[in-house]
Formats: sequence, structure tokens, C-alpha cells
Amino acid sequence: MNDYLTKALVYGGSIRAYALNATKTVSEAQKRHETWHTSSAALGRALIGTLLLSNSSLKNDDRLTVKIQGDGPAGAIIIDGDAKGNVKGYIQNPHVSLDSNEYGKIDVRGAVGTQGIFTVIKDLGLKEPFSGQVPIVSGELGEDFTYYLAASEQIPSAVGLSVLVDKDESIKAAGGFMIQVMPGASEEVIGNLEEKLAKMPPISDLIAAGNTPEEILELIFEGESIMFLEEMPVQFTCDCSKEKFSKAMITLGYQELQAMIDEDHGAEAVCSFCNEKYQFDEAGLVALQQEITGGNE
Ligand SMILES: [Zn+2]
Repeated sequence: MNDYLTKALVYGGSIRAYALNATKTVSEAQKRHETWHTSSAALGRALIGTLLLSNSSLKNDDRLTVKIQGDGPAGAIIIDGDAKGNVKGYIQNPHVSLDSNEYGKIDVRGAVGTQGIFTVIKDLGLKEPFSGQVPIVSGELGEDFTYYLAASEQIPSAVGLSVLVDKDESIKAAGGFMIQVMPGASEEVIGNLEEKLAKMPPISDLIAAGNTPEEILELIFEGESIMFLEEMPVQFTCDCSKEKFSKAMITLGYQELQAMIDEDHGAEAVCSFCNEKYQFDEAGLVALQQEITGGNE
């Protein structure tokens, strides 16, 4: 099954619901960054949360960045997402491998930490980007996305993010849901929902068992009529290129490039989001110098 996100309205539109399968997306991130299981789950949950946030709040060419800076061993986690289902991500320490927590689950909180800052920066094509910042309240990340939505965007919501890692470190299943309560939703609806969510198994277990995002929403909203709006494919994509890195190298200046030629006879640039490596040999570095001087020595 390919990764996709489904959007729906429930209870006459007073509840907006999103669910996605992100197994291939998280798997791609795991392979590119060679993450170990606790880092895989932390990075994966952040990728899923960002996909839910960007595809529930952005339009057209808008983009957003989620920065999670906790005090745990994983260090900073930075995720970029857009309104078209694309996401890319970085984790400072990909090699966190902790014992399971007291519930027998991957200890994401142990990797992320319980103190720190959760920041969302939205580029909506305006002069100034929108920026919202809240403290980390949980470290499990689902609750942190929920808290961010409530505190910074005034949207009461429930967010579930889930990654199942196999014994060989590969990603067995990954996915999540986001439920947003619109103004006018009745207390009864909210009460019903809370009851149902409390009984839900982890989403990654449902995905591993073959459930689609639509079926996950049908489980959450058992017995209610769900109006499915659209399906959107989601994927790990990076927009880096050798050309972009060339431009960045040029900003280092002529002398710095000369030092790379003299000392290393070349240079390697690594994209922190996708781990793609770009090689610049001596001739390539000289060509960049010539762009600086306009060909005049
Ligand atoms: Zn890249």
C-alpha cells in the first residue's frame, strides 16, 4: 500500500479528521539517516505530525518547519513540510537506542526529552513568516503537536502519531491521525470522541494489520457518518541539488574555496535533510571560484 493521507468531516462538519499511512515515508527517512529504533520513532513521529499539520493548515505553495529542541539524547529534530504531501527531516543524533518504556513501547520521550521548545514556522508567502512557539509538554510528540495546536493556533485537537520498528531496525508500520474540533461542536460530540480515542489501539498496529487511513477513521468514528473529502499521496522528498550546494559554496568566498583546493583537493557537501552527498573535485571548486571572480583572476 502506498502512503497517503485522507481528509474527512464528521458530525456535520463540526469535527475535521485526518489519517495517514506513512510507512514508506518513515522507512525512507530511516534508511537515509540510518537511524536506530528510538531515533527512528522520534524522527518518524515528527514527520507524521508535520504531514498532518502541513496538510491541514497550508495551501498552494505554503511551507512550514517544525523544530523540536528537547533536552534528550536525540538532540534537535527539524522537519519541513508543504501542502502537497512532501516532507523531509533531520535528527541531530540518529543513533539513540533506548530500552522500552514501562508500557513496553519505544521510549520516544527518553530520546526527545521533557524540557525544551517546540517551534512551528509557516512560510505563507507573506512578508514575515508566521512563527509559533510552545514549551515541550510531553516529549512523546503526539501530545506536543496537540498542545501546540491548542496553545498557539487555538484549535482543540487530538493527535496520534505512531511508528512500529521491526527487530532488524526496519520500519514495519507508521501513521497517525489528527482530529480538530471546530467552533460549535457540542460537548456531547467531544465527550463521545474522547471515549472512543481512549479505546483506540496504536495506529501503527492498525496499519500493520492492513487497515487503510479510511478504515482508521471508521474505527475512531464508529457508527457515525463520515464525509471523506480527498486523498493525498505523501512522501519523503528533498529539494536539494548540486546547484543549490554550489550557490552555498560560493557564499563561502574565494579564499575558503582555495583552502579546500590546497588542503583537501576537493570537497564533499552533505544535505542534512536527506543525507545526499555532493562531490566537488578540484576543477569543480576552481569553476566556483571563477563564478566569484567572473572569470577574471
Ligand atoms: Zn537533500
